[in-house]
Amino acid sequence: MPEARTRRPLVLGLVAGILATAPVLFAQQPPRPAEALGYDPVATARLPSWEEMIAYFEALAAASPRVRLDTLGRSTLDAPLVMATISSEQNLARLDELRNVQARLADPRRIGSDAERDSLIERGRLVVLVTAGTHSTEVGGPLAAMRLAYQVATLPTARATRIRDEVLLLIVPAVNPDGVDPVKEWYEATLGTPWLGSEPPFLYHHYVGHDLNRDWYAFTQKETRLLVDRVFQRWHPQIHHDLHQQEPTGARYFIPPWLDPVEPNVDPLLIAAATSLGTRVQWSMLEEGRTGVAVAALYDAWSPARSYVHYHAGVRMLAETASARLAAPIEVSPDELVPGANLDPRIPSWNHPVPWPGGRWDLADIVGYMQSGAMATLGIAASERRTWLRNFERVSRRAVEGWDAWPEAWVIPPPSRDGPAPLGPIAVAELVRILRTGGVEVLRAVRPFAAEGRSFAAGSYVVDMHQPYGSFAQAVLARQPYPPQRKYEGGPPKPPYDVTAHNLPLLLGATALPIHEAPPVDEMEPVVAPPPAPARRVAGLSAEPAVMVGLYRPWAPSADEGWTRWLFDTYTVPYSSLTNDDIARGGLLRQFTAFVVPSIEPAVLRFGRSAADVPPEFAGGMGPVHVENLREFVEGGGTLVALGASVDFVIEALDLPVENFLDGLSSDDFYAPGAQVGLAIDTATAIGAGMPSAAAGWLENGAAFRSRSGGDMAVVARYAARNVMRSGWVVGESWIAGRPAVVEVPLGAGRVVLFGIRPQYRGQSLGTYPLLFNSLKRRR
Ligand SMILES: [Zn+2]
Repeated sequence: MPEARTRRPLVLGLVAGILATAPVLFAQQPPRPAEALGYDPVATARLPSWEEMIAYFEALAAASPRVRLDTLGRSTLDAPLVMATISSEQNLARLDELRNVQARLADPRRIGSDAERDSLIERGRLVVLVTAGTHSTEVGGPLAAMRLAYQVATLPTARATRIRDEVLLLIVPAVNPDGVDPVKEWYEATLGTPWLGSEPPFLYHHYVGHDLNRDWYAFTQKETRLLVDRVFQRWHPQIHHDLHQQEPTGARYFIPPWLDPVEPNVDPLLIAAATSLGTRVQWSMLEEGRTGVAVAALYDAWSPARSYVHYHAGVRMLAETASARLAAPIEVSPDELVPGANLDPRIPSWNHPVPWPGGRWDLADIVGYMQSGAMATLGIAASERRTWLRNFERVSRRAVEGWDAWPEAWVIPPPSRDGPAPLGPIAVAELVRILRTGGVEVLRAVRPFAAEGRSFAAGSYVVDMHQPYGSFAQAVLARQPYPPQRKYEGGPPKPPYDVTAHNLPLLLGATALPIHEAPPVDEMEPVVAPPPAPARRVAGLSAEPAVMVGLYRPWAPSADEGWTRWLFDTYTVPYSSLTNDDIARGGLLRQFTAFVVPSIEPAVLRFGRSAADVPPEFAGGMGPVHVENLREFVEGGGTLVALGASVDFVIEALDLPVENFLDGLSSDDFYAPGAQVGLAIDTATAIGAGMPSAAAGWLENGAAFRSRSGGDMAVVARYAARNVMRSGWVVGESWIAGRPAVVEVPLGAGRVVLFGIRPQYRGQSLGTYPLLFNSLKRRR
């Protein structure tokens, strides 16, 4: 077991034991959140601090023998990340045994016979993980988690008793504890102002903001790794009930079934289980009189970036409740409700039988819907514990047997010592680290071997695809064409919920080859820990005193800005963040050698946030003064680097002699909602130096360039001339085939580097980091 955060001191325990005989010990009853806090956060729309939330769980654990609280580790900003474990006294007394049962059901190679399996299912308990607070502005989640903990631990009802008997409930009240207090403080600062409850002008996760929920297959952030190492890999939850909030103008509540497309390596038994459970949760909530409860709308199950459990024999029960304005109530009239994918919130339909009539929507509604959905999920699952455990074991068994669609194995050759990829050794180490973190068994060939007529060097890594987490390995190692979705037959593309690709070898710049005959695994050794990664340093950039990078930080929080900061911190690139005011002050050339504008929509760069939405110091964008100072910086010898969506703003603001010719195309002609594309790199350029001549880049609509009126433009990288799309979905790839993707435009004594691709995409596209790093170095 992880170290217990609160253990009742022995003496207190003895005193409590003596006092327990006296009826006056009523005060020892587990406290409700409002009792422990001294106020009811839901009724008063007052948000507790992270310290208060932890104190509540500590008080509950101290007073209830059905609750224990553990610290999983420390967050990015060193806050405790905690988990409550709630079940009957009998179940809590045999946690080690239950964990052992889970581990064996998760790996049927450790089960000798059907009789043994049946006995494990009999002894086991259903493990349900409830997470909240991944997105800190979705303030209802942690409050619902506190109330849910109290309900399950204390209610004398038949449903709660059955949940305690059949379920081991794990609650992580805030996946991102660092965001709790800043959002609370921002909310309090907006009370009584015109911008009550508006979005804070900062990322609520120090580095990645909302993208913390896009990290479930790359594991770059501390919080993700803590959850994976200390919860998912330790407890193997059969159900992950993930509390979130959505737009205030859609349905009141969403729970699966998921929309298509479903990623093809998610076991069909899991998808069917989510469909079955979700529709019954909807039924139960309707029975309680809750309106606006939708299934099969808006959210697809394509990307492993949002779901760890789908590739680890569990079901993700995403719950999305409509937001208000942080903790402040809103009024929504019916005609303000907005249709989304497979849902019109104003109209009854099979997947949304009773529309919400509109009106006031407040924190009590949000928390009430969350509690209602969570109790329904737990109650239904508890009544069929054996079915869920049998399903769990069967999914794991099917993976161990291997799917017909899978190869026998994947081989990851070691990085070539003198190859061109400068981050090659890091890429291979990173790929093996990710696979191991995801629970994938990896072997290392101690001598060369041959398979399928190919020979592989000693030191190659091998993933035998007969193993419990084969579906995770297959999902991230195989290139996945996204099944095109159209709004109607022959109509325009239907946008995916998020991006369409997730192939790690392409992202990292590593190689993984499928082989269809069994490799000689007896001659290989298991990789226990990932191979040591070389130091993350870039010659001429990391901690280089001659370099100082300015990084634009908008007041409309930008995850791409945060990822860039994460990258710079990870590789010790010297930088500081600059706001609109910093740029307006000018004199940039005295402090900076390069300036980076992350991928931000042109309208946000130009206009920023509205003064109706935030206090004046956070309103506005980059106007003529900012642009003039950026021009002075470049013309004086600085390097301006524009990433992805920001290139259009920079081209126009500085009147560069180039254009992005994708701008004029409709989505019928060209559409790339996050895909991996081939690149041809000119390694003779300063920015392409040291790169392989062929690589893959991340394209999210992005840009393709041509020079205007004979202007100067050096091409660093082009989109591949053929087979541009490598994984995901691109409509109209012929528009970009062979066209410039990364260019350098001289301006005065300096230069502007325009990236049509996203070289540091979500901290995942290691294969193209060198293009960004090289563009920041000083030229000799
Ligand atoms: Zn969310």
